[in-house]
Amino acid sequence: MSPLADWVVDFAAGSREMRDLLGGKGANVAEMTRVLGAQMVPGGFTITTQACVAYMASGALPEGLEGEVTEALDRLESHTGRRLGDAADPLLVSVRSGARESMPGMLDTVLNLGLNDETVAGLAQRSGNERFAWDSYRRFVQMFGNVVLGVPGEHFEHAIAASKRVRGVTLDTELDAAALRELTREFQGLYDFPADPREQLFRAIRAVFDSWQGERAVTYRRLNRIPDTWGTAVNVQQMVFGNLGERSGSGVAFSRDELTGAPEPSGDFLTNAQGEDVVSGVRTPRDIRELRSWIPEVHGQLMKILSTLERHYRNMQDTEFTVQDGRLYMLQTRDAKRPAQAAVRFAVDAVAEGLLDREAAILTIDPAALDALLHPTFDPHADYELVASGVAASPGAASGEIVLSAAEAVAAAGEGREVILVRSFTEADDVAGFHAARGILTSEGGKASHAALVARGMGRPAVTGAAAVEVDLAAGEVRVGGRVLQAGDHIAIDGSLGRITLDRVPLVEPEVSEEFQTVLGWCDELRVLGVRANADTPADASKALELGAEGIGLCRTEHMFLGERQPLMAAFIMAEEEGERAAAIEQLRPLQESDFEQILTTLDGRPVTVRLLDPPLHEFLPHPETLPEGSTARRRVEQLQEANPMLGTRGVRLGILFPELYEMQVRALFAAAARVPGAQIEVMVPLVAYERELELMRELIEGVAAEHAHADYLIGTMIELPRACFQADEIARDADFFSFGTNDLTQTALGFSRDDIEGRVLGRYIDVKILDRSPFETLDTPGVGQMVRMGAWLGRTRKPELKLGVCGEHGGDPDSIDFLHHSGIDYVSCSPYRVPIARVAAAQAAIRAGRANA
Ligand code: PEP
Ligand code: MG
Repeated sequence: MSPLADWVVDFAAGSREMRDLLGGKGANVAEMTRVLGAQMVPGGFTITTQACVAYMASGALPEGLEGEVTEALDRLESHTGRRLGDAADPLLVSVRSGARESMPGMLDTVLNLGLNDETVAGLAQRSGNERFAWDSYRRFVQMFGNVVLGVPGEHFEHAIAASKRVRGVTLDTELDAAALRELTREFQGLYDFPADPREQLFRAIRAVFDSWQGERAVTYRRLNRIPDTWGTAVNVQQMVFGNLGERSGSGVAFSRDELTGAPEPSGDFLTNAQGEDVVSGVRTPRDIRELRSWIPEVHGQLMKILSTLERHYRNMQDTEFTVQDGRLYMLQTRDAKRPAQAAVRFAVDAVAEGLLDREAAILTIDPAALDALLHPTFDPHADYELVASGVAASPGAASGEIVLSAAEAVAAAGEGREVILVRSFTEADDVAGFHAARGILTSEGGKASHAALVARGMGRPAVTGAAAVEVDLAAGEVRVGGRVLQAGDHIAIDGSLGRITLDRVPLVEPEVSEEFQTVLGWCDELRVLGVRANADTPADASKALELGAEGIGLCRTEHMFLGERQPLMAAFIMAEEEGERAAAIEQLRPLQESDFEQILTTLDGRPVTVRLLDPPLHEFLPHPETLPEGSTARRRVEQLQEANPMLGTRGVRLGILFPELYEMQVRALFAAAARVPGAQIEVMVPLVAYERELELMRELIEGVAAEHAHADYLIGTMIELPRACFQADEIARDADFFSFGTNDLTQTALGFSRDDIEGRVLGRYIDVKILDRSPFETLDTPGVGQMVRMGAWLGRTRKPELKLGVCGEHGGDPDSIDFLHHSGIDYVSCSPYRVPIARVAAAQAAIRAGRANA
């Protein structure tokens, strides 16, 4: 492709396959034009993402672009029969961003472009509606100033508020033509407004390109892992007008309920309004069902279109439309971002309706988002005072301190405080605050407001449109139910029910819905990877089973020595002679035995991997400063302090230095197993680097096992140090299984302290693009991942029947699971709440692999 011919593509020439080049919006508008016909979709053209990439590289519009835009504009002018800048009958266009992945509200848009003092008169005359013409002009001057010249939005909002006050009206729609003209003039006084429509157009195009590099877009990309290099396309489209009067309006419509996934279209609209009014949340919109009573034909036509688009895309659609004087136009469509419950419901219904097969249906679910389904909600039986309600905009309950700005939310989260971001409405610049907050509450907006979309995208609970909540930023107050609250005061929201309270409401665990069970059942049939859970208590173990775990892949025994048992453990560690140590150990053994018995009983014959004690011993000791100076205890504790405990006396080293400790644990385990019929135990040794370490531990374990009748056991090791990966064949000699501890393997392979790096180094590393996410969250596949593969391969070379698992945090991360599917691993093990996510992710990995091989 010669770049000279390819900076611009007409809607009529594009298709959904051209997403990388045209961006999601451009590709879909083109596709929609084909599917619905050109009469349903206003005409236009797309300036490609490649043009943006070239612009970012050189800082100037690429050569040839202006010529191509001019030609495309000529074609649009002849298609519409109007010319840009024509004083009698002007063509007006919108200039909208559109990246490959949708980034709702993050990039810029300019509407009504082409207006100036001459064309506004033409527009007024043609429409016979002077108020409409000045409303459009006012909006354009406002948006252009804000988006292209960076004039702060408040300057315009204050002027509008003042104008309404002077005229004694409350709604924007009540401002008459004269008021709007005055406002337009006032706005033009805020900056140097360019009257020439061509200059307006090229400046708007550059502004959209620039918005790709803007702070909020960069933040959004980082949170959503969208590469900075993609660039955004720019769509120039003929304007249709939702603000032409009472038979005009704008809205968003989903092909199914965007919250629940139920097969009834949902959405919001506003009469006599343009699209940004609906999304910004400044006016509270009407439910899409009310379209029927407003203009029944439009309602019928829209419902039909939603169904056509859904069948065409084979996915739930999220559309924007405008009604101009009773006539419907579709402005865009895209696959709907949806909360987990809607995703699951859609998958099940789509299979039942024959829209998708099971595999395709499973692939429409974002496994990471399923987290939200496992969020607690307010206990329905709890007594609490409901101070206000609003729109249930994003599911789950959350509570915390009120914060009134995104910056405060970020700062508070940095200090480990849980906060709820409370705003009148939110703007794209609030994104970082969303991420930092536990939940979002807005007094305005609906289900499609910016706050709702972003919250759902991030899996944060949100209540929007809670009109009884009055947010007074100037006073730093929130007034609700006759009370005045300040930042720092407690508030709780339930985004599944749209409720708000100041009480501390007990939460209940969610039920796994029937549909979710159905999907999980399909996933279990399709996946190859096993899924176990990391659980240390009977309660965690039964939660894990309830969520579908096939066994316990990691039972960390150190948690069993904290709390009231900590003094016994401390006595053991601090004992200076054998006898004292043996006495302490003897007291610990029965307690440990009962822990194991309970867990084995809960697992009822499923495998349980019990890891022998791992952490540094001094974690069980008091701080030396708390002990009397000069005392023996203090001296002993001081002796045991280590400069780098993560790499000190921990893991198998404990078993080598204090064999009686591991003997006690193994004895307790076998005694417990003997009392639980069918118990399947796997004894796991942590932090092995040398084959001889495991050889010694195997002798120790077998020695104890020989004292007991229970024979169904395996002995294995964590593989969590680089040397163990390189020497896995040697280590396999004494192992029946390996479990890759990818937390420690990441820590030791990268030399990143897992406790220190996230807070200090990671942010900067992501900023300067060394990393795009934490390697403790998603496996560093080129480094750590390759070590896992090598360890798996070497181990199996020595011992083909070797069982292989992964029990680091990565075991519950969808991207890591996809990689592990291809790494010879038998199962992953993750925290109980991530088990369903792992089941879906493992199925998706298998489906994708099958398709790639087909
Ligand atoms: C690991 O290192 O990956 C692991 C599972 O063990 P822990 O997190 O307890 O060190
Ligand atoms: Mg570890």
